[in-house]
Parts: sequence; structure tokens; C-alpha cells
Amino acid sequence: AERRGKGAGEARSDPRGKSGMLRVKMVLLGSSGVGKSSLALRFSKDDFKDSAPTVGCAYLTQLVCLHDATLRFEIWDTAGQEKYHSVTPLYYRGAQAALIVYDISNRESFMRAQLWLKELEKQYVPGETVVGLVANKSDLSSSRQVSLQEGRSLAENKGLLFMETSAKSGNQVSELLLDIAHRVKLSSREDKG
Ligand code: GDP
Repeated sequence: AERRGKGAGEARSDPRGKSGMLRVKMVLLGSSGVGKSSLALRFSKDDFKDSAPTVGCAYLTQLVCLHDATLRFEIWDTAGQEKYHSVTPLYYRGAQAALIVYDISNRESFMRAQLWLKELEKQYVPGETVVGLVANKSDLSSSRQVSLQEGRSLAENKGLLFMETSAKSGNQVSELLLDIAHRVKLSSREDKG
């Protein structure tokens, strides 16, 4: 409970810890089963578990080193709240980054991603949160229901970062985190003028 309070409250009010490290709260959104927990695990521990992983704490962490900064990501998973097709506003609070995840082998999850995006847009101030659209399970290309182009054009229309990933194979997962880190770093610099 202590970790949850810390992550939810301080991220925006005090983004730089005493060490000068940039703290980044990143939330994962999307339908059940698209691979949010698996991505969180891959981001944080470079691991994958075939049975649905239980994160078991409020967030997982990962350090990302850029040439001029180190970012400490706190990666938040919905912990099943998305079953009710929405999550509490507290979940979004103070988030510098949000990932909307769908499963390329499940068209319904892509339709839902668009609803998650609408929901997210109600919660954040544009420009303050880096938002990424993540097409997960790219290893399941033989049962693909959503083309690369469809995902890419939705992201382009909305000005979102886009990446196809596989939490299972690890494909493009660290690249995605690095992309997000660069964007967050850039927007934090703009904040400072
Ligand atoms: P969540 O409900 O969005 O958190 O999804 P989970 O992380 O629990 O994953 C749901 C199921 O999809 C689990 O059985 C995972 O093993 C599987 N899964 C997650 N990511 C991938 C992936 O990239 N490829 C494949 N093939 N399966 C995945």
C-alpha cells in the first residue's frame, strides 16, 4: 500500500528525485488479455511467463539510461480493473507516459484501444503525457487480424508513438521503452523552458 501511495502522488509534483534522476510514471491500458502484465514484466525484468503473470505489486520499475539522463520508470499495470472497461482516475494521475495496448490477433482489442484512447484523453492534459499505441503479440502473425498499416495510421492520426511488440519473444520491447524515454525527456525539457 505504501508503494502505491508513493507512485500515485509524487510522480508529477516531484519528477526529479534527489539524485537528479527523472521519475516517470507509465500506465498500461487496454483490454484484458492483450499482454499488459506480460509487457510490464518484459520491460522490467526482461522475462516472460506463459501463464498470465501476476505483477503482485502496484508497479514494476526499470532504469533507462539516455546519453544525458537516467529515467526511472514506474510501470503501472491495471491489475484487472479494465474488465469493467474503465479504470479509476487515480490510476492516471501524475502519469508522464501511457501505453494503449492491443493484440494484433484480436480485432476487438483494436476497437477497444480506440475507446481507451478516448477515455485517456478525458484524463490528461495534451502535451504533458507521452502516449504510445502498442500492437502486441507480433509473434502471432499467422493469426493476425489487425494490419500493421491500420495500427500505424491510427497512431499517426492521433499523434501517438507506435510500435509492434511481442512480450513473448521480447521483440521491439526495449526499443519501445527507449522511444518513450526520449519523448518524455524531451517534454520535460520543454516544461523547463
Ligand atoms: P493482460 O490481461 O493485458 O495483462 O494480459 P497478460 O499479460 O495477462 O497476457 C494474456 C495472455 O497472453 C497470457 O497467456 C500471455 O502469456 C499471453 N501473451 C502476452 N503477450 C504475448 C505475446 O507477445 N505473444 C503471445 N503469443 N502471447 C502473449
